[in-house]
Amino acid sequence: MPSRSSLDNPHPFGEPAWTTSLLSPFYRDSHHRLRLHLREYLETKLFPHAFEWEQRGLRRLLIPGLPPKYRCGKSLPGDIPDEEWDLFHSMIVSDEFHRCPHMGVMWGLTSGNTIGCPPIINFGNEEQKSKYLPQVCNGELRFCLAITEPEAGSDVAGIRTTATLDSSGQFYVVSGQKKWITNGLWADYATTAVRTGGSGASGISVLIIPLKDTPGVSVRRMMNSGLHASGSTFIVFSDVRVPRANLIGRENGGFKIIMANFNPERLSLATGALRLARTCYSEAYAHALRRKTFGKPLMENQIIRAKFASMARHIETCYSWIEQLIFHMQNTPRAEEDPQLGARLALAKVQAGKTLELCCREAQQIFGGLGVNKEGLGAVVEQISRDMRVWVVGGGSEEIMDEQGMRLVMEKTLRTQNPRL
Ligand SMILES: Cc1cc2nc3c(=O)[nH]c(=O)nc-3n(C[C@H](O)[C@H](O)[C@H](O)COP(=O)(O)OP(=O)(O)OC[C@H]3O[C@@H](n4cnc5c(N)ncnc54)[C@H](O)[C@@H]3O)c2cc1C
Repeated sequence: MPSRSSLDNPHPFGEPAWTTSLLSPFYRDSHHRLRLHLREYLETKLFPHAFEWEQRGLRRLLIPGLPPKYRCGKSLPGDIPDEEWDLFHSMIVSDEFHRCPHMGVMWGLTSGNTIGCPPIINFGNEEQKSKYLPQVCNGELRFCLAITEPEAGSDVAGIRTTATLDSSGQFYVVSGQKKWITNGLWADYATTAVRTGGSGASGISVLIIPLKDTPGVSVRRMMNSGLHASGSTFIVFSDVRVPRANLIGRENGGFKIIMANFNPERLSLATGALRLARTCYSEAYAHALRRKTFGKPLMENQIIRAKFASMARHIETCYSWIEQLIFHMQNTPRAEEDPQLGARLALAKVQAGKTLELCCREAQQIFGGLGVNKEGLGAVVEQISRDMRVWVVGGGSEEIMDEQGMRLVMEKTLRTQNPRL
């Protein structure tokens, strides 16, 4: 049965349906326990500091999720046993983290390791795993993921950073630029896409490049409209010598490694976008009850209530879609190889981003002038309005995701109809 927390949002549709009186087939006791544990922990230990850390662009600690072998005896959040942990637990983690009103802070704490370590966890050799992962777990090392370049963002296969073996055959010499690398300012290593072969996807490899005190590496902070504390970084590599042992997987086999990172990242971005949308909804809901115009609360106007109905419809339908996709992934071996799933994940990410845009816009509208004020009652929604672009652009932007969603399923249909294609 659902377990409620005193920290739960009191407004209708302020929390996902499965945490209310509605039954769901997807959640067990451990999911409810995890949600309550994270809510308590984040509300008391982190969120109170988030505003200050975002203003000052600070970050404080690491919360990595690693296989038990490399976790140095540490348990999973909420003491959930490893054998009970499933993708719904991961969804809850993303949902709860995105309750932070200043997402730059959460990205500053977790994002680099979350996207920089999976290539090692999933494709690294044993030597690489035991060298890096326990230290990440102990908070001694931080990673970031460096793929995007000034000339190649959506088109990952077009990256230009080169890695050429030197005459000894033991070192790659790396030159190029990477842009918008989250946590790059503080990371010890960048899991980096480099060109070791010819043009296109088949010439790409993934290298673990040390950033700190490495000759030829320079980093500088990038100033974006939001996510100030996430440590967005421009990295330049000038003839950087990287041991050959730092190659993940096989040479020129990197594109598959990079693509494997994307499905979980898209799922997490979609879940996050929906929580941010829910926050916009809830903040505006409280304001509409409080704010009086023409002698009565805003909420007493049908046209304002219709805005909440629209927001709730969009949030709840997309959330249910994502639950169904997670259920499929959880119960289907090699689910990620099925284009039917890949297509839906891409489209669900777009839908979640559009839901966030709609809810943020409507919430700002309900706040009136307060919706653009960095202080005061509308400050959370104002912050989200600056942070949210990355949920629509990062991890596969809207146009690319819509196109991929259709292409993945159309290719099979077209081939069936015309085997020569
Ligand atoms: C805050 C932030 C954090 C980030 N963190 C990281 C990180 O940690 N690591 C990392 O590697 N990258 C990171 N990125 C980069 C991000 O992944 C890219 O911004 C994203 O992939 C889009 O690339 P781009 O910005 O070069 O846009 P472009 O590829 O130049 O695209 C520009 C626009 O054109 C559209 N478009 C492009 N091609 C087509 C086409 N063929 N048809 C139709 N439309 C098209 C796109 O959808 C987009 O809207 C981050 C970005 C931001 C803003």
